[in-house]
Amino acid sequence: MTDSLKRFAFGVAATALTALTIGAANAQTYPTKPVSIVVPFAAGGPTDTVARQVGQAMEKTLGQPVVVENKPGAGGTLGAAEVARAQPDGYRLLVWHIGMSTAPALYRRLSFDPLKDFEYIGLINDVPMTILARSDLPAKDLKELVAYAKANQSKVTLANAGLGAASHLCGLMFQQAIATDLTTVPYKGTAPAITDLIGGQVDILCDQTTNTTQQIKAGKVKAFALTASKRLDSLKDLPTAAEGGLQGMELGIWHAMYAPKGTPKPVVDKLVSALQTALTNPDLQKRFADLGSVIYPVSMQTPEGLAKHLKSEIDKWGPVIKKAGVYAD
Ligand code: ASP
Repeated sequence: MTDSLKRFAFGVAATALTALTIGAANAQTYPTKPVSIVVPFAAGGPTDTVARQVGQAMEKTLGQPVVVENKPGAGGTLGAAEVARAQPDGYRLLVWHIGMSTAPALYRRLSFDPLKDFEYIGLINDVPMTILARSDLPAKDLKELVAYAKANQSKVTLANAGLGAASHLCGLMFQQAIATDLTTVPYKGTAPAITDLIGGQVDILCDQTTNTTQQIKAGKVKAFALTASKRLDSLKDLPTAAEGGLQGMELGIWHAMYAPKGTPKPVVDKLVSALQTALTNPDLQKRFADLGSVIYPVSMQTPEGLAKHLKSEIDKWGPVIKKAGVYAD
C-alpha cells in the first residue's frame, strides 16, 4: 500500500469508528428531542387516530413529545417511502396498516421494500370495517344496498383513500362479492371521504370502525354491515356482512409501527418497550375498545411478531390482488 493510500484507509476507518461511537452514544441517550410519527393519510382518519393515541401514550415512557405528521398520497405508499428513506435515528417513525402488505402486489414500481427497508417495532391493533352509505341513499339493509348499487351501477360512487388503502381493499372485496364494478373516488384519507359521504357527495364508503363508530351512532351515515365474523359490542345492532347475505367480506385491518432500516438496536428496544407500555394504558385501552379496536397480545407487539405477521399477510394478499388484476404503474 502506498503512503497516501494508507492515510486514506486510516481516514475512512477513523470516520466510520467516530460515526459508530456517536451512534452508540446517541442510542444510549435517545430520545433527546421530539419524535415524529408519519401517518400516510389525512388527519382525523382511522390511521391518524391510532397513531395519535399510541404516540401520546408513548410520551410518558420516552420522556419526549411524540408528534404526528400526516403525509398522505398514493394509498399510504408516499408516507411509507418517506420513512424508509429517513435518517435511521429513531426520530421519524411510521404507523401504517394492512397496506404495507398489499402495496407490493398493487404497485408495480414501489420505491421501498416492506421486507427490507424497515426495522419493525411491533403490531398495535386490529379493527374491522363497516360498509356505509350516505344517509339519504334509499336502502334500509345490505340486500337493498346491493340491489341499489346494481340497478344504478353507472352512477353509484364508492369512496376510498387511494390504491393500497384499506378502504380500497374493502371496496374491491365488496364489488367482487356483488359482482358489480362501481366508480371509485380516491381521497387522501377516509376522514375527508367520510366528510363527503355525510355531505352526500359520494354514495358508499368502507371504513374502519375507528372512524365510523361515532358517525354511525350520531346517524350521520347509514351503516349496513361489519366486515367481521361476529358483531361488535360497540355496534351491537350492526349485522356482519355474512348475516346481511354477503359472503367473503371478512377483513380485519391491522396497524403496526416501523422505523427506518438501520435504526440502532438500543433505540428499537426503547421504542418496543414504549409501545408495549403505551398499549397497557387504561385510557387508551378504553378508547380502543369503544371504537371496536382489538389490541394485539404483547407477544405480537414485538419486531418478531410484526415480521412474521407482515410476511404471512404479503403471502396471503399477493395472489388475491394479482388474481383481481388491480395495480398501479
Ligand atoms: N382508513 C383509511 C384507509 O382506507 C386510511 C385513513 O385515512 O386512515 O386505509
